[in-house]
Amino acid sequence: MKCDICPNYCEITEESNKTECKLDPFYDDENRIYTCNIEVEPIESNFYHFLPGSKTLSVGLIGCNLQCPSCTNYKTTQFENDLLIPKVKYSPRDIVNMAYDNDAETITWKFSEPTIHPKWIIKTAQIAQEYNIKTAIVTNGFTSPEALEKTKDYIDAVCLNIKSPSDTYYKQVCKGRLKPIISTLNFYYKKHIHLEVEYTLIPEYNDTPKEVVEFAEYIKEISTEKIPIHIKQFIPVYKLKHIKPTNEKYMLKTCDRLNQMGFKYVYPEITTKQQYKNNTYCHHCKHLLIKRSQDYQIDDHITENQGCPHCNHKAYVIE
Ligand code: SF4
Repeated sequence: MKCDICPNYCEITEESNKTECKLDPFYDDENRIYTCNIEVEPIESNFYHFLPGSKTLSVGLIGCNLQCPSCTNYKTTQFENDLLIPKVKYSPRDIVNMAYDNDAETITWKFSEPTIHPKWIIKTAQIAQEYNIKTAIVTNGFTSPEALEKTKDYIDAVCLNIKSPSDTYYKQVCKGRLKPIISTLNFYYKKHIHLEVEYTLIPEYNDTPKEVVEFAEYIKEISTEKIPIHIKQFIPVYKLKHIKPTNEKYMLKTCDRLNQMGFKYVYPEITTKQQYKNNTYCHHCKHLLIKRSQDYQIDDHITENQGCPHCNHKAYVIE
């Protein structure tokens, strides 16, 4: 049998650990979900323009279909034997109940690659929809057209992590391919699913101005306004412990470059400065729209008709 969940299209055999994600994605009985991480977080952990100021229940499953050397969750994504991973089984209803009890407006699937578990996303979202709880994912975008089509009605927001604008980089460094990821980007946009994109600047790997501009060109072709961009700081981890963290000034310069290219919402994510919080400004008159503070409290100045209180220009924020 062939798995059509991601562009690897692995042959599923008795020895299911031969698949690229080291999982048999059909192994679940559809009633219980193995989760490795589960925590209540501010939505701002991954989204600036989707339900700002709300709480989300973030849930991490097992496995990934890429093999990035900079993975911060490598223990649960790049494992040798999933029996060694500490995990707890929950039903989709347990997850929804937990979100509801914690006043979370969304369930965010993150920490590993959620799209390789489409049945779980769908089953949980079907129950969550009854409670008006939305579904968000943080994904590498390496998803098959078949899986995108199946899950599209169950996902409300996507944070897509692009690793590089180069297919060679994807092949050599992450064991993936660029083209399916760009197709995923276009797919979500065309289906009107809220989309934000992140790019981690890894020194010596993907951080030259040329690479950043090439990455940005892919987004620019789609929208400079409706896809907020997060420029993330690299922190030494996993196989790249020898690489230094991204220089903060260089990150801010990169954000300036993207602003000059016409992007309306660009956010630096500087991990080494814990107190750094990103505000959202009107892209027309630069008036403050959403002020975010240290404890993730927000001050939202956007008017009832989704406009800037100063110039009334429309703000692209889902509230
Ligand atoms: S999800 Fe992708 S990597 Fe995993 S078995 Fe299916 S096709 Fe292979």
